[in-house]
Amino acid sequence: MQPDYDLIIVGGGLAGNSLALALNNTGLNIAIVEASTQEQRQLSPAGDRALALAAGTVEVLDTLGIWQGIHHKATAITHIHISDRGHFGKVRLSAEKENVAALGYVISARDIETHVAHLVEQAGITLHCPARVVGLMSGNSEVNVSLKSGNDTLNLSAKLLVGADGGSSSVRQLLDIPQRITEYQQTALVTTVKATLPHNHTAFERFTCSGPLALLPVDKNYCSVVWTRTDEEAQALMLGSEADFIAELQQYFGYRLGELTLTAPRRAFPLSLIRAERMVAGRAVIIGNAVHQLHPVAGQGFNLGLRDVVQLAAVLSKAAHNHDDIGATALLNAYTQSRQADHDRVIGFTDNVVKIFSNDWLALSAARNIGLSLLDHLPSAKRLLTRQAMGFVGGKV
Ligand SMILES: Cc1cc2nc3c(=O)[nH]c(=O)nc-3n(C[C@H](O)[C@H](O)[C@H](O)COP(=O)(O)OP(=O)(O)OC[C@H]3O[C@@H](n4cnc5c(N)ncnc54)[C@H](O)[C@@H]3O)c2cc1C
Repeated sequence: MQPDYDLIIVGGGLAGNSLALALNNTGLNIAIVEASTQEQRQLSPAGDRALALAAGTVEVLDTLGIWQGIHHKATAITHIHISDRGHFGKVRLSAEKENVAALGYVISARDIETHVAHLVEQAGITLHCPARVVGLMSGNSEVNVSLKSGNDTLNLSAKLLVGADGGSSSVRQLLDIPQRITEYQQTALVTTVKATLPHNHTAFERFTCSGPLALLPVDKNYCSVVWTRTDEEAQALMLGSEADFIAELQQYFGYRLGELTLTAPRRAFPLSLIRAERMVAGRAVIIGNAVHQLHPVAGQGFNLGLRDVVQLAAVLSKAAHNHDDIGATALLNAYTQSRQADHDRVIGFTDNVVKIFSNDWLALSAARNIGLSLLDHLPSAKRLLTRQAMGFVGGKV
């Protein structure tokens, strides 16, 4: 008997929905399972976070037909300014020197998530929502999955299941895939500020002894703030008055954008690195945050997840075209191998940035200042950093 679907994607977030769109014209019969209703996702405070999209990511979104509908909501980053609070080291990256229109773009997570979900709906891809995966069994010729929707249970089968259900992935747990967790004991505080001076499309990354602070350009004179503090400090900043919050933010950021005013609620995101030890189990594969949930310091999470999507879509399209089994072990293992180096590089880079730039140990602080100053004067190293920021290192997406 034929399974119900060729492919079931669990998780209708950015990774899951982008994969469905990438495979839309392959003839594969696809279903998405998403736990939250569209309304719940719209209202979620998590949607307030801004995403910095690398130039390479934007190229992919364009190819997938996603970017065309949201580019007017995005703000170009033409300069990146990296500094260390209280020290001399600085690095400045510029789009002009790279001969590109922008180093990347900033967009609200809610805007891009809503648009991608809308495109999935328009494409007529089957959606089981709200429905949560509660059981999973992978056999020789198909994978069986149990869904819970309210009081109802639904059992479905497919040749392949993709878990794109985020950092707390149920699919990862149901497949017994071990994970390594690093608790950073840090929280990202996210909000929006208005500045009295124009940002001129500059993204600021400022390292401080208690954690990195990013101000990303959004509307004219508005910046999205991603401020990493220790859990205790973040809790105090969340509970304290808005006036105290903005005064401390100003003290940490300085006055390069003039005076800052808070224009949005403060949101708190506890931070940890979660890395799955495997990506594949039987006829199931996990992608995006289900495999790697990163610290937002380098803005790499979705950029990395989208490269999973592109690579998996390429492998599955080819198999579908050749009428091969899309859940075959050899095919999934080849996919895994093709993603390993990029995962290692980005996860290692992000984790090192967190560790090196989140403390005030004198020797390390001196070293990173010398590093930042040197980097600003070494064209080849600076170019590498720029290309990393643009998402072009380690295989263009
Ligand atoms: C503060 C902050 C700032 C960030 N900044 C950046 C940035 O600048 N650049 C960048 O590239 N990345 C950034 N990221 C990371 C980025 O947001 C994530 O990498 C990306 O959203 C992950 O997408 P995903 O689809 O893999 O997972 P998710 O967005 O978590 O989606 C998972 C989906 O699965 C659903 N789901 C969960 N469990 C089940 C289940 N059992 N059954 C069915 N459905 C289920 C969920 O409802 C959800 O819709 C940031 C993250 C944070 C927290």
